[in-house]
This record gives sequence, C-alpha cells and structure tokens, in this order.
Amino acid sequence: MSTGFAWHERMMWHDPGLAVGAVPHNSIFQPGEHFENAETKRRLKNMLDGYDITPALDALSIAPARDEDILRVHTAAYLDRLKALDLTGGDSGTEFGDSAPIAPGGLGIARLSAGAAIAAITSVASGRVDNAYALSRPPGHHAEADRGRGFCVLANIAIGVRAAQHQGLARRVAVVDWDVHHGNGTEAIFYDDPSVLTISLHQDRLYPVDSGFVTDTGAPGAEGSNINVPLPPGSNGETYGHAMDQVVLPALRRFAPDLIVVACGFDAAILDPLGRMMLTSADYRDLTAQILDAATALCGSRVAVVHEGGYSAAYVPFCGAAVIETLLGMPPGIEDPYLPFFAQFGGLELNAPQRAAVDAATGAAGLSIAETVT
Ligand code: ZN
Repeated sequence: MSTGFAWHERMMWHDPGLAVGAVPHNSIFQPGEHFENAETKRRLKNMLDGYDITPALDALSIAPARDEDILRVHTAAYLDRLKALDLTGGDSGTEFGDSAPIAPGGLGIARLSAGAAIAAITSVASGRVDNAYALSRPPGHHAEADRGRGFCVLANIAIGVRAAQHQGLARRVAVVDWDVHHGNGTEAIFYDDPSVLTISLHQDRLYPVDSGFVTDTGAPGAEGSNINVPLPPGSNGETYGHAMDQVVLPALRRFAPDLIVVACGFDAAILDPLGRMMLTSADYRDLTAQILDAATALCGSRVAVVHEGGYSAAYVPFCGAAVIETLLGMPPGIEDPYLPFFAQFGGLELNAPQRAAVDAATGAAGLSIAETVT
C-alpha cells in the first residue's frame, strides 16, 4: 500500500484576517484569531512529523491550479474578480463572498490548495498511489461556481474531480462529505451531473442554513446523484455508523464509482468550537476504514481524502492522524488521551431523533431496507 500526501507550507500562510471567532474584526469587539487559522492544520502536519509518520507517506508534488483547471468549475467572472483583488490588494480578511475572507496574494495560496486536491485525486485515479490525503487550506466545499463561501475560496475537490475526468483517469466519481457543514458547493457544482455522486453527512441547518435537505436529490437527468443526510446536533459515532450502513455504503454500491473522494472535515469532532457533533478520533478511524473497505470492493481501493474544516487546534491532529494511519494500513500508533474521558459519557446510544433522521435520508435516497442490509 502507498499513501500519497499533498502538503505545502505556503497553504498555512492563507490569512483570513483578525476576527472574533468567525466574525470579521470590526472594531466593536476585541479582535482575535479567526477560527479558520493555520494552527488547526499545521499541528496535524507537526504530529505526523513528530511521530515519524511523514516518512511513510509518499510526498506528492503540488502544482498550483491553473486557470483552465479552475474554469472547469468556476465562472470566468469569479476568477477575474479574484485576480483583480489579488492585484489591487485590500486588507487581510477582505471579504469576497459569504464569510470568505482572503488577504492580498491569497489567490496564489488558494491555487495551491486546489492543486493539492488535484494532486491527491489524480494520483489515486492514475494508480500512482493506492490512496492519498491532501492537507488543503483554505478549504473548498462551500465555494460555489461564482462566489466564495464559508471560509472557502476555490472548490478544491470539484476542481480535482474535473481534472481527473478531463485527463481520462476516472469517469464516475463519488464524493462523501463528512464535514459537519453541508457540502453545498460540491452539491451545486455537480447537481446536474449524473457522473458524480455527492453525499453529505452534516449537522442539520448549521451552515448554510438553507441547504442540505433530504429532498435535494439531483437535477432532472441526474436524479439520485445527490444525497443529503442532515443529522441532529449531538450525533456521535453510533449515529454516523448507522448512517454509513443505511445510506452511504448502499448508495456507493448502487453508484459503482471508479474513485471515492472524501471531503474530510474534522468539525464534527466532539471538541470543535463550530459544530455540535460528538465524533472522536476513533470514530474517524472507523469511518475511514468503512470507506476503504467499500473502495476495495467497488473501485480498486481508490480513495482520495481532502481536508476541509475542523477548528479545534487541540483535537484535529488526533482525528487527522487516525485517518492517515488508517489510509496507511497502520494500527493506531498515536494515543488519543481524550478517548477514555469521552468513553465515560452517558447517553451515547443511537436515539429516536437520530434514527429518524437516517431513515428519512434512506427513504429520500430511494434506498430500500433490503439494500441497507449488509
Ligand atoms: Zn465545516
């Protein structure tokens, strides 16, 4: 097994400016660090270095996404706007969409982040590596064709998927998004395309509040190619495991992809400041193993994982390392000191609202009970 790893220090230099958490600094409140800051990602890379995991990874070279790569997904007007901002400057944290701040020169960094996704996805699709992880920053799954949203500048995964398709490396691609927020950008970009199955597991109406519903199943001609699994706050590993068994894995089997891409946000983790879900590093390990098993059965083990959100600088590294250890086929080597504490919590059993949410998604996706028996 070989696991590719797409990383570039400059992606950590993306600067969303001063903020009060997620709210841009406006001189009314004391400014601090933006939730989407480099530490939440860099500490994962440092953990991989510190525990000698990095040498086991196959370093992928990253080329910044070119205009032609970006224009397969985004409008020319949006790219022109980004270029104009890059030339004319503006302040750190200049807003160009909906909660999508960027600093002067930031387009070059966004091109690297999309380039990391391209490198991971095309390297897996071509067979150069068995699977891959792109530690992309800024994230991408909220970005739409004509605007940035939710800390996202370019739609990294969509750009990577289109690059793989353009190069003839993959025809049918499934994107499984377990970021706590709805993968609205990926959904919108592929909504009328039956060659790309998009599945989003997310906290119900967290962000964006007006998307991510079970009834959004794909445009005419692409019916069934989009699946949303909105879950109640407080959902945990039991809930996500049930959603995988009932919805995600049967949908993947039905779709029969050439390649699976994971939009890997760690903001469904139990210590995240923006989400209200309860996943642990052990749960992320299990989810990754389930995806790998599905890929082994369906598409020659081809899985590309692209980093999205995750805003606990303390906990993201444990979750990220668990995913990467699993991709490498390694047993758990980094002890998560929080797991014994979390395991003592009461009330973690799958409850009725969680079961009802998964059942609703199962029905809306047209998956029968028979299909969900594994
Ligand atoms: Zn998120």
